[in-house]
This record gives sequence, structure tokens and C-alpha cells, in this order.
Amino acid sequence: FIGYQETGSLEKPAWSERTRLIGPPQAFSGRLAVVTGAGSGIGRETAYALAELGCEIVAADIDAVAAEETARECRAKTVPATAYALDVADSAGFAEFANTVQRDHGVPDIVVNNAGVGLAGGVLDATDEQIDRLLDINLRGVITGSRLFGRQMVERDLGGQIVNLASAAAFTPQRDLGVYSASKAGVLLFSESLRAELADHHIGVTAICPGIVDTAIVANTPIAGLGSDEQAARDRLVRFYQRRGFTPDKVARQIVAAIRSDKAVVPVTPEASVGYRIYRFAPWLS
Ligand code: NAD
Repeated sequence: FIGYQETGSLEKPAWSERTRLIGPPQAFSGRLAVVTGAGSGIGRETAYALAELGCEIVAADIDAVAAEETARECRAKTVPATAYALDVADSAGFAEFANTVQRDHGVPDIVVNNAGVGLAGGVLDATDEQIDRLLDINLRGVITGSRLFGRQMVERDLGGQIVNLASAAAFTPQRDLGVYSASKAGVLLFSESLRAELADHHIGVTAICPGIVDTAIVANTPIAGLGSDEQAARDRLVRFYQRRGFTPDKVARQIVAAIRSDKAVVPVTPEASVGYRIYRFAPWLS
């Protein structure tokens, strides 16, 4: 199997009328969506996709200029959109950001914790600082975003949807990707646990696990085992995944589908199938 699958065994808890996010496209109109890492790749395309559905967009990124470009493009789709500079690794700064969003825009209906980075080089070559930074962005950043906005959603008591970017790397061992994979496996299990914790509050939590998508993160991360002509091999690999639907806009559509269908949607790769089976047959995680 190649591509996306909906996992029947991982259906989220039943929703009350209060959430009203699932269902037809109109359900998204006027909803507030916060996207981190919105200045590039999957985050940017997710902001665009949600804007096209009529959501107000809060585009946050460590690169404020890139976030503003995304917001501008969203406004061109005639929805309100505001850009913020945010380092998701800075918990205090993240808390300030969450307060600002609540004060100026309201409690978000949708939060996409998407900001993430790769690590250039193998585990043995990495410094403490590099490892801390990666875990602080990829794992702690997701936990902080889910916690801060999850709390706002619980207090508001109108439900909501949190989508966290994990990766097929969460269940696919790959040489040189140990720290990145650890961060993403953490995101996956964190999200599954949080789903159970927030279910009674009608807040859905989904972890999305794409395979390789041709974005800046991939261009900046060495992929082990590509051989001597690395660029050609990298291009082939990227094309392989592109043909199977792993492009930023298609992953964005899967994120929207996950929100809309109220089911966990886990994009998997052939390589991930073993891990995927484990994931599927562990419904007690949900
Ligand atoms: P990308 O590099 O194109 O985009 C990542 C964005 O996050 C950038 O705009 C960057 O400025 C921002 N960012 C980085 N550090 C930040 C920080 N500390 N605070 C706030 N923003 C920060 O990469 P992408 O492929 O679009 O990645 C998006 C997410 O998808 C990441 O979590 C990544 O791990 C995940 N993912 C990517 C792939 C892939 O192959 N591209 C596969 C699976 C999962």
C-alpha cells in the first residue's frame, strides 16, 4: 500500500453539536486557525487551504517575513490573516503569543502545531546544543502549543481541533535520523495521549505522519545511503514520494481532511508499513 489511509480503528470520540467543525466546508467559515511554522512548506499550504475554506488565519513563524508573506496571500483569499514572529521553543514567548491571540482574535478553533526542523548529520556528530534545540522545537514546541491552546479551548468549552505534525520517521527507523525520529515518535504518542485527555472536552487531536515532502527541511537534511551522486538520488527519492501524493499542498489537504472527517488520518509510506501496523493494532492508544 502506498499513500494515505484512514484508520478505522483510530476513530476519535463522538462529537457533540458544539464543535461544528466537522462536516461540510461551510463548517470552517469564520473559524480561527493558528498555524505554526506557517512561513514555508506544509505550514504555508495548510494556512492557504484553511483560508480557502474561510478560516481566519494566525500565521506564526520564527521567520516573521515569511509568516507575513503567508498572511498576505491568505488575505488575498479574502479572509482576515495576521502574521506573528514566534519561536516555538521559547515557552515563555509562546505563552505570550497564546495570550495575544486570545485577546486579539479569540480562542482558536483549529491549531496546527507544524513548526519543525531537521538535524544535519548523524547522532554521534551532534552537539548537546543541536539536540536540545531540535527537541525544543519539534517536541516541546508541539507540547507547549497543544497545552496553551488546549487549555483555552477547554475553558471556552466549545470544542476544537489540534493537529500536530509528526512524521513517518516516527515509526520508520532511518540511519542518521535518530534524534529527529525520537522527536516525532514523541509527537505521535503525545498526540494520542492528549486525544484521550481532551476527548471529554470535544477537542480532537490528530498526529499527521507524512513521508518525504520536498520542502526546505528536506533540502537541509542529509539523507543517508543515497550514494555518490547525492543530488540525483535525492531528486529521484523526492519524485518517488511526489508521485504518491507527498507534496505540501496534498499534506495540507490531509490535515483539513483529518479535521473535517473527525478520523485519524495517517499518511504512510511503504517503508512505514510495519510501524503502521503496530500503530493500527494499538487502538488502546486512542
Ligand atoms: P519547512 O522547513 O519548509 O517549514 C518549516 C517552518 O517552520 C519554516 O517556515 C521555519 O521557519 C519554521 N520554524 C523552524 N523553527 C521554528 C521555530 N523554532 N519556531 C517557529 N517556527 C519555526 O518544512 P516542512 O517540510 O514544511 O515541515 C513542516 C513540518 O512537517 C515539520 O514539523 C516537519 O518535521 C514535518 N514533516 C516534514 C516532512 C518532509 O519531508 N518535509 C515529512 C514529515 C514531517
